[in-house]
Amino acid sequence: MTIRIYEDDVYKKTHKTRVIECIEEGDKKFVVLEETIFFPEGGGQPCDLGKIDNIEVLDVREKGELVLHEMAAFPESDEVVCQLDWERRLDHMQQHCGEHILSGIIYKLYGGVNKGFHMGKDMVTVDIDLKDMSDEMLLEIERASNDVIYKNAPVTTELVHSQEEAAKFPLRKQMTVDSDIRIVQVEGADCVACCGTHPTLAGEVGLIKIFKAEKNKGMTRIYLKCGRRAMDDFQVRHETLTEIMQLYSADLQSVKEKVKQERDKAAAVREELKQLKMAINDRWLVAHLDADKNVIEIFEDKNMDDLKYLTKKMTDSAFSQTLCVGSKQDFGVILASSTVNCGQIFKEHIQNFNGRGGGSPKMAQGSFPSEEDMMNFLNEITVLI
Ligand SMILES: [Zn+2]
Repeated sequence: MTIRIYEDDVYKKTHKTRVIECIEEGDKKFVVLEETIFFPEGGGQPCDLGKIDNIEVLDVREKGELVLHEMAAFPESDEVVCQLDWERRLDHMQQHCGEHILSGIIYKLYGGVNKGFHMGKDMVTVDIDLKDMSDEMLLEIERASNDVIYKNAPVTTELVHSQEEAAKFPLRKQMTVDSDIRIVQVEGADCVACCGTHPTLAGEVGLIKIFKAEKNKGMTRIYLKCGRRAMDDFQVRHETLTEIMQLYSADLQSVKEKVKQERDKAAAVREELKQLKMAINDRWLVAHLDADKNVIEIFEDKNMDDLKYLTKKMTDSAFSQTLCVGSKQDFGVILASSTVNCGQIFKEHIQNFNGRGGGSPKMAQGSFPSEEDMMNFLNEITVLI
């Protein structure tokens, strides 16, 4: 049995102990210690990492009463020094205890029970067995949860040995174990059986921020971040928002309206541009629709959408020659004809110029990586049409 130091002292960052066993399974190496400060994965909380005698700990897991430390290599000595990756542990304690507080508050305010918890690398999610949670509810939950942090409520753990003993506590959730039950309480906020690591004061959680909530299998999934994660996120959002405010010469109160106004303006300009281009394209069509010979033209100022528009108008009309148009903006070509097989010409020649595309006997379209490739392709096919 491994003595779990973290159960009594979550703040122990280094510890000297002895190696009990070294196990090799395939290409994996596991070390069993007499005592450990490394929390193995459990209850939604990922495992601790760190070093044992300066060798990287890759994973920590439970096997019965033992804690297995997966290592890059076995330590050379029986006496080893363990070093905890404290940044990682503190982050886990902040997310985990934040989840306790939030879940306890939801239970107290609305009777919702936490049915699932996942600590992702970015977000923490909790699944609450309430079908609908309004924005007002979430705001109230967030405020009440952070109030627990401001009060710096004590977080205590008590070990009880039977379900009867545990039943004396106001637990918010059914237990899954029936002996050596660890009851974790956040004063005034939460009481639940849990095997994870928790700070001794709620103040260490720092901050609880809900990001969104969505319906999930008849329940509500809440996304949150706590502690430094929430602070880091705030800094990124603040920086982004500040840049947007500068771009729009707006303050926090007016920036939303400014963005909406600019978006509407841009849509109006796009529509105006579309109409203008159509008018220009229509003028070109007037000059070419009645042509009695092939039309070949490379445009500097038209994109593929323009060429498609021109081609459609030409082929819908009485035009019965061959149309070949290219765009220097998009390095694209369209060939339409009722006298030559367009698809066949593209199939036979386009690959020689690094192009992609094809089509039917009546119409084909292709694109090229460069203007040079496109022009060379056009030079080759215009003698064929
Ligand atoms: Zn816990």
